[in-house]
Amino acid sequence: MDWQWFRTQLLTWYAVHGRDLPWRRTRDPYAILVSELMLQQTQVATVIPYYQKWLQQLPTLTACAEAQPQDIFKLWEGLGYYRRATYLHQTCQKIVQEYGGQIPQELKILMTLPGIGRTTAGGILSHAFNLPTPILDGNVQRVLSRLFALTTPPHRNQKQLWHYSQRLLDPVVPGRFNQALMDVGAGVCLPKDPQCGQCPWQNGCMSAQSQQQHDLPVREPGKEIPHRTIGVGVIWNAQGQVLIDQRPSTGLLANLWEFPGGKVEPGESIPDCIRREIDEELGIDIQVGEHLITVNHRYTHLRVTLVVHHCFYRRGTPQLRGCQAYAWVALPDLCRYPFPQANQKIIQALQARPIPPDPLERGGGRVQSK
Ligand code: SF4
Repeated sequence: MDWQWFRTQLLTWYAVHGRDLPWRRTRDPYAILVSELMLQQTQVATVIPYYQKWLQQLPTLTACAEAQPQDIFKLWEGLGYYRRATYLHQTCQKIVQEYGGQIPQELKILMTLPGIGRTTAGGILSHAFNLPTPILDGNVQRVLSRLFALTTPPHRNQKQLWHYSQRLLDPVVPGRFNQALMDVGAGVCLPKDPQCGQCPWQNGCMSAQSQQQHDLPVREPGKEIPHRTIGVGVIWNAQGQVLIDQRPSTGLLANLWEFPGGKVEPGESIPDCIRREIDEELGIDIQVGEHLITVNHRYTHLRVTLVVHHCFYRRGTPQLRGCQAYAWVALPDLCRYPFPQANQKIIQALQARPIPPDPLERGGGRVQSK
């Protein structure tokens, strides 16, 4: 195998076709750390504005380490996979506390930090410090599986894929090589429609030569993603505020704020579900009102349908049974709290429609909150 041919072909192509991305204009290890965490399972176009805003607000590793969790989540709001925000925060804190504020330049040490696996560590070390550390994200797995016509599904073939990624890597400009490899994966060796005619490796690619590129990488039959219907209440009090609560500090969407609610049980109506969930989660009585919006959202392992109703507070002091904190908030102040993406659509619906009349008002006056 003429490894140098592959390197030269790729780097020559990259010099002309490489993408101009904000994190490629810097060698600041902190900025590169931020970009690598944000780019995990997220497209470049989505990440760019978040990356820029993050560095404007938290321009140094120390500033990130010292930030309040609420500010971290607010900056990450809408980017998804929120655990990464916590990991980035914790990683910066650990680097300040244990490594004098300097990002460790040893792969094994870097991989002990929260949220940093081998690919992320490889990306940081090669890009920021020009160290010869390979990468193997989903795109790279696809490219290498095709380049070497590998007939084992990538997740069962990690050792061989890492071997190829390391063997191909240019020892002189590893950072540049890895960026170029990512660009081939993102723009040329596309999942459904590989553009072999534009690929720098066309003449050396085993699957292109044997016309197998559309059949590789081999996929395992996918599992069906479970679906849940969730009843959600936007609970109004007499002051025209809505009740939100903060999710637990672990698990899906940890620490984010949301409108309270929960999973509909078999045979249960949406209003009954909302009443039950609010009672279980917060221990208050409410009256369920008209439907506000239905939101469909997909997470990696779960699809949800949020059926949202206006509700009216009746009695009881909210308890912290299934949440960390709660707050009564006026609509214009909701923007100060970090919400999951699906809840953003609820906020938009609230902003587009006026507060509904409380049924009790029609019968003679609002109930006062305690
Ligand atoms: Fe992918 Fe085609 Fe390039 Fe091979 S030649 S790496 S299949 S785009």
